[in-house]
Formats: sequence, structure tokens, C-alpha cells
Amino acid sequence: MEQRIDRIKKQLHSQSYKLTPQREATVKVLLEHEEDHLSAEDVYLLVKEKAPEIGLATVYRTLELLNELEVVDKINFGDGVSRYDLRKEGADHFHHHLVCIECGSVDEIQEDLLGDVERVVEKDWNFKIKDHRLTFHGICHRCQNKEDKHNKTEPEEKEMNKVK
Ligand SMILES: [Zn+2]
Ligand SMILES: [Zn+2]
Repeated sequence: MEQRIDRIKKQLHSQSYKLTPQREATVKVLLEHEEDHLSAEDVYLLVKEKAPEIGLATVYRTLELLNELEVVDKINFGDGVSRYDLRKEGADHFHHHLVCIECGSVDEIQEDLLGDVERVVEKDWNFKIKDHRLTFHGICHRCQNKEDKHNKTEPEEKEMNKVK
């Protein structure tokens, strides 16, 4: 964790920004909740637990800055909420997401898998690809298991809050 904070610090420095204590608190929350795809409000509430003096506007500005510097990616899974996702170290491309329409969980695929598609797009559309966003909507393996077990009985109450 310290190492990654250090690297993010250098990333900021290289663009003439400082890792202020407020920014550091925000980065720490993102690192601690790397798999969670937090919204700005989620990040704010978690930052507030550690540093109550930091306001939502500051957290919001920090997230926007981190997005600009490509430390985080801003994503939207179609529910109108922007979420912030740390860029994985050394990743050329943004990872893919599997969004479950039953429970709302979000799983990640780190492999690129799109090599062939990109070659076609670059060739046929003469388009130089820099990155991509790929979100699959469907039913996760956990919900599929649940459905099998209940075998046509009503699905259990949906855990809509699993991913905030
Ligand atoms: Zn993600
Ligand atoms: Zn699910």
C-alpha cells in the first residue's frame, strides 16, 4: 500500500501536483476498497471516518484530478452514478466489468481479450485505439447457483446494496 501511494505521489508530482493530506486520504480509501467501484459519495463517507474535516467538494475535486491524471478511471454502469476505479499497475487498457442484473455485483476481468476485435477496428475503421470500456450485463455465477438451488422458486431477496 505504501509503495502504491508512493507511486501515485510521483505520478502527481510529475504533473506538478502535490499529494496533500486530503488527497492522500482519498487515495488510501480507493486503495483499501479497490474492488468496490465506489461513487464520490461512498468515497467521501469513508474518507470522513478518518478525516472528518474533509468536505465532499474536496473529495470530489480530488477524484476529478485523479481521473485527469489517469490514476483512476471514471465509470458508469448505466445507473447514472459515476464510480471511480483505480487503474491497475502496469495495465495498458482498462479492465472489463461483469455487472450482475440480479444482485448488482461487479466482477472484473483483467485480461484484455480484445486483441482480435481491436485489430479489425484499427484496420477497417482506420481508428487508433487508445483504450476501451467493456461492461457485460448478465447473471453472475453466484446468482446462477442460487437459481439452481431454488429451482424455479422465487429468487431470494435481491441484494441491491452489495455494490454501493
Ligand atoms: Zn473495476
Ligand atoms: Zn449476481
